[in-house]
Amino acid sequence: MTTTGTAPKAEPKFKGQPVDGYSIVKTTAGFDQLAKTDATAEGAAWLTRCNAHGETTPADNRKAGRTLGSAAQRATWCRRCKAAAAKAAEPKAE
Ligand SMILES: [Zn+2]
Repeated sequence: MTTTGTAPKAEPKFKGQPVDGYSIVKTTAGFDQLAKTDATAEGAAWLTRCNAHGETTPADNRKAGRTLGSAAQRATWCRRCKAAAAKAAEPKAE
């Protein structure tokens, strides 16, 4: 049996962290939404970031990005959220 350390309930590590070429539009405990500052630059117009793990995913618009930020959606695009969700869903071994 291995015991992994449980992170204390502090501010998520990536909350409010800047991303090059983007400005933070919305910040929550679970996710941040970022908008591209230069419309002519390459890359997605919007990003949603998992604030626990720092992974980002492109979004078509603000509303889509907000949807992607929900805990259930984060488990579809953030590898570590997916792993955590899978682990939580495992039946408890006696
Ligand atoms: Zn995550």
